[in-house]
Amino acid sequence: MVSLRSKLSLSYVMVIILCVLLVSGVTNYFSDKHFREYVKQNQEQRNRDIVTQLSRQYREDGGWNDEGIEGIGVDALENGLIIKVRDRDGILLWDATKHNNGMCRRIIAQMSNNMSKRYPYIEGTYAEIPHAIYDTLDKVGTVEIGSYGPYYLNAHDLSFINTLNRVLLGAGGVSVLFALAAGHIMAKRLTSPISKVIQSAQSIEKGNFRDRIRNGSDTVEINQLTSTINNLAETMERQEALRKRLTADLAHELRTPLATLQSHMEAMIDGIWKPETERLKSCHTEIVRISKMIDDLERLAHYEGENLVLNKDSFDVTGLIKRLVQNFESDFLSKDIAIAVRGGRSEIYADKDKISQVLVNLLSNALKYTPQGGKVTISVREKKDMTQIVVKDNGQGIPKEDLPYIFERLYRADKSRNRLTGGSGIGLTIARSIVAAHGGTIEVNSTEGQGTEFIVSLPLRVS
Ligand code: ADP
Repeated sequence: MVSLRSKLSLSYVMVIILCVLLVSGVTNYFSDKHFREYVKQNQEQRNRDIVTQLSRQYREDGGWNDEGIEGIGVDALENGLIIKVRDRDGILLWDATKHNNGMCRRIIAQMSNNMSKRYPYIEGTYAEIPHAIYDTLDKVGTVEIGSYGPYYLNAHDLSFINTLNRVLLGAGGVSVLFALAAGHIMAKRLTSPISKVIQSAQSIEKGNFRDRIRNGSDTVEINQLTSTINNLAETMERQEALRKRLTADLAHELRTPLATLQSHMEAMIDGIWKPETERLKSCHTEIVRISKMIDDLERLAHYEGENLVLNKDSFDVTGLIKRLVQNFESDFLSKDIAIAVRGGRSEIYADKDKISQVLVNLLSNALKYTPQGGKVTISVREKKDMTQIVVKDNGQGIPKEDLPYIFERLYRADKSRNRLTGGSGIGLTIARSIVAAHGGTIEVNSTEGQGTEFIVSLPLRVS
């Protein structure tokens, strides 16, 4: 596996190398084309110059002058041009190869060498091309100028091309170094926050749920990753706290009835109390309380289990509520609480028994926590693609600090008072599990002393 840093640095270098190759390729192609053109024109110009010099010599001296021709020929030879001059009858007047054969051969070898070095694919040949020399309109002779065809580079041309290539190569090299440095810096900037995220995630994995990643980054995705990990840590921290509290709560819940039982039993064993029916009944009540709690816990485990099976069916939820309310009617009557159901038919596709369980839990809470003479309303309404069931009472309400926790296992807002109502703090946890399994939500609004409202939202569509 390759690290992100190496990958980034490598890709930077690759891109730069590609760019350099492309730029130098294109530059070379175009400059070469223009340069060849320029070299050809230059050679033609030099040839014309020789012809002009010779025809001027003829005109000024009134005929061919051996010394004059030699001056021009030697000059041309020194500039790398091999010429032969003939008069109008073709008689040789001056020949560079005769003047200095060694130098001529060196020049030809040099031309061939320059060409094959630069353009090995072009097959060049040495040729002497005749150019006529005129005095006004009369042809007075010819000059054969040796050249390496189709064109050739002299030392000056070649050094220009070499310098150009060196400049390109140098720029390429500098760019690669620059790319390496830029890639390294960029990779470091990108990977160091990722490394921090990894470190924190590893620390969280080891159980340090309080750890948070603090450094912000200017990369959106890294910021998202950081906040996701932070949220994850927060959730884990909350879960951990809840888990600890659950154990403490459970111990506490079991200790109270067990301690009562123990002291009652000991008193009877020691003969301090006689095992009278009243005393045995009180012991029995405690045992029933413990069994009820264990039953509740078992039920909770069932509903919270991963494989909560839903037997879904289409039914009218308002009808179901009306039937359930009928079952509760005598309890509400005996507490003098008015109960009303509002809303028309509303078909949902859900597990009827489990939704009944949710409603029973909410109704029995409303009954428990609403004082005599209170009022409870259950309304059914359709909102967007959800069916909402609102169970509202004007009872004691829930303190603000308890509201975030009432759906947690074994959580009871007012412990001492709730012991009397017999609640174990599991009803709402079960309700939430069932609603969530249906793809719905359960929310609570409550004001202490004024009342409570539970809103169950279930998807309307058949799913
Ligand atoms: P319990 O068995 O104690 O009723 P629940 O899970 O049903 O457990 O409820 C958790 C806690 O939420 C209750 O102990 C109570 O403090 C509070 N609560 C639930 N419903 C109501 C309500 N309608 N009015 C006031 N408090 C309520």
